[in-house]
Amino acid sequence: MEKILVSACLMGRRVRYDGGAKTSSDAWLAGWREEGRLVPFCPEVEGGLPVPRLAAEIEGGAGGEAVLAGAARVLATDGSDVTAEFLAGARGALAVAREHGIRMAVLKEGSPSCGVLAVYDGSFQGRRVPGRGVTTALLERNGIRVFSEDRLPEAAGYLRTLET
Ligand code: SF4
Repeated sequence: MEKILVSACLMGRRVRYDGGAKTSSDAWLAGWREEGRLVPFCPEVEGGLPVPRLAAEIEGGAGGEAVLAGAARVLATDGSDVTAEFLAGARGALAVAREHGIRMAVLKEGSPSCGVLAVYDGSFQGRRVPGRGVTTALLERNGIRVFSEDRLPEAAGYLRTLET
């Protein structure tokens, strides 16, 4: 059975920067959870950051690829550089995916780690730009398809192709 890496906050774990969760009530996720497919993971916590923690964004409206390339940093609201923790979390996600033979993930939209279609622009003004988070970029670079929590029917279609 195919397993799916999933952002831990979508599964109700209180790991977000503000100490909360973003529990998804989506039927696809509920079904996959029931089937025992889901492997929850929070890159930021596993990368060494506390809960709660300061919000962070990738500088300059860049995406996770730029962070992986050393061309952009991840900064917290006080200006501190948390790039190393974000990279450690991304590597941890990849290690867990490999350990479970995982080929797909469903991650939380908008996060500087887990964003799939959008991230915030680095200004801390609540503005989103197209781009991927650091973990998403590393997983996709290594052949793992990452789906936004907002695109679960698409993820379900991909799961079917993996299993047929
Ligand atoms: Fe959720 Fe990902 Fe942020 Fe962790 S890093 S709180 S899993 S969005």
